[in-house]
Amino acid sequence: MTIRLFNTMSRKIEEFTPLAEGKVGFYSCGPTVYHYAHIGNLRYFIQNDVLKRMLTENGYKVTHVINITDVGHLTSDADSGEDKMEKGAARDNKSVWEIAKFYKDEFLRDFDDLNLIRPTYMPHATEYIQEQIDLIKQLEELGYTYEIEGDGIYYDTSKFVGYGKLTGGSLSGNRAGARVEFNSLKRNPTDFALWKFSPKDEKRQMEWDSPWGVGFPGWHTECCAMSMKLLGNHFDIHAGGEDLSRIHHNNEIAQSEPIVGAPWVKYWMHTSFLVDKSGEKMSKSNGEFLGMEAIRSRGFDPMAYKYLVLLSHFQAQLAFSWEGLESASNGYKNIVKKLATLLSETDKGTVDKAVYDIWHDKMLSTLSDNMKTAETLVIVQDLLKNSDINPATKIALFEFVDRLLGLQFIDRANKLNSLESEVAPAEVQALADARTNAKSEKNWALADELRAQIDAAGWNIIDTPNGSKLVKKI
Ligand SMILES: [Zn+2]
Repeated sequence: MTIRLFNTMSRKIEEFTPLAEGKVGFYSCGPTVYHYAHIGNLRYFIQNDVLKRMLTENGYKVTHVINITDVGHLTSDADSGEDKMEKGAARDNKSVWEIAKFYKDEFLRDFDDLNLIRPTYMPHATEYIQEQIDLIKQLEELGYTYEIEGDGIYYDTSKFVGYGKLTGGSLSGNRAGARVEFNSLKRNPTDFALWKFSPKDEKRQMEWDSPWGVGFPGWHTECCAMSMKLLGNHFDIHAGGEDLSRIHHNNEIAQSEPIVGAPWVKYWMHTSFLVDKSGEKMSKSNGEFLGMEAIRSRGFDPMAYKYLVLLSHFQAQLAFSWEGLESASNGYKNIVKKLATLLSETDKGTVDKAVYDIWHDKMLSTLSDNMKTAETLVIVQDLLKNSDINPATKIALFEFVDRLLGLQFIDRANKLNSLESEVAPAEVQALADARTNAKSEKNWALADELRAQIDAAGWNIIDTPNGSKLVKKI
């Protein structure tokens, strides 16, 4: 099946052809483990997961790398400011190594809750220090580096023809003449640190010996060293959030192409931001940090968030609101309910291979066309509505949908069916009986109050022509 993907480098949708037949090397810039992952960041990992699933369903063997940044990511893109990890450790009153482990585990918990397939490799930057030093040495031999005394080894971007080509235009973020630490000046405003020296009067928790002095690698170097070590000098797809393209990824290209030749990577893919109602990049909501815990603690299924994400295209910004999540959650639950009914039917028929193939191809080709997730979900809805298709064929197609999108429809529908048969505890049944009495006495206020109590106890009360029924909430 033809796969088409938007490539940030060419700014065009291109037909996807891998470097090696049947295989895809895929690198996703991973989290800096100094804090919980934000749901905007998780949006990007959801999109990467669906991309990987789509490639796999097209028959490719995907080697996927997500790195763990546990050193060197400074609070400012201009290579000044604090190390995010050291800052996070001071905030939590723990060691840098402790917070790296803690927030990586939290990241993996979110990852699993969202049913994202674990990557083939998850390398830590601190495990690849020698590879980073080797890479800097190669750049030094090629004449791309210079030292700022007392500060670090820098990359001279004026030496690399085509610097900034991933995004084009001027890279005005690093202002000309911007001062870096120790009052030294970079040769060019876009130059960046390859190796930072530890401050003379301060012992960092993370520091290593190098040919240039004790210190730590710059953030942009780790992704080059790890991706090339694990995927080879050239690989197919490099992904990141849209905020990484201008500086981080242009810098990665500037470090890699002088060593391995151009083009280093074949396709660059960037997921857009999650934004608030005013279109600003979302970081907090009314002062509350928006991680998965905020979603879980409000009783939302993580799949509801994933469903919301897949209703938008990865290149479009997604405006997040709790109302929007509520409505996505209802949409998700509607599909689950309909599927649960299909699963409980006694006469399902047999899978119609011809019909299966048509719908399978329709969904896979839509998703393979530059990741049209929302359009794929429309086909899923159409499939459920179609009364000409028997339950067995629909269920078989949902098994495919679950592999393709990872939305766990069948799992949730089975859970719903088992909850349907679960008997409510005596105290909840007593509330339901009291509500039936209140209704027969037309005491609507009391009936509403009792419904709220049943709801708070984790049960739904459904009124049917044969009386009310208690069903455990999913
Ligand atoms: Zn990176």
